[in-house]
Amino acid sequence: MRMGSDMTELQYTSIQCPYCWEALEIAIDPSVSDQEYVEDCQVCCQPILIHAVFNESQQLAVSVTPENE
Ligand SMILES: [Zn+2]
Repeated sequence: MRMGSDMTELQYTSIQCPYCWEALEIAIDPSVSDQEYVEDCQVCCQPILIHAVFNESQQLAVSVTPENE
């Protein structure tokens, strides 16, 4: 479904799994300036809590924590 001129391009960034330390690529929706969600690691399948924040200059800062901590 397209939303006219309101096109959102996902921003890709690399994180490191807090369980197995593998590098993972995740896609962040830049239309949400502060978001937190859980994504399973593609390698060890454990749930990672991802907190992604865009600052005023649209720079992305991502922090990851183990969900079951
Ligand atoms: Zn992992």
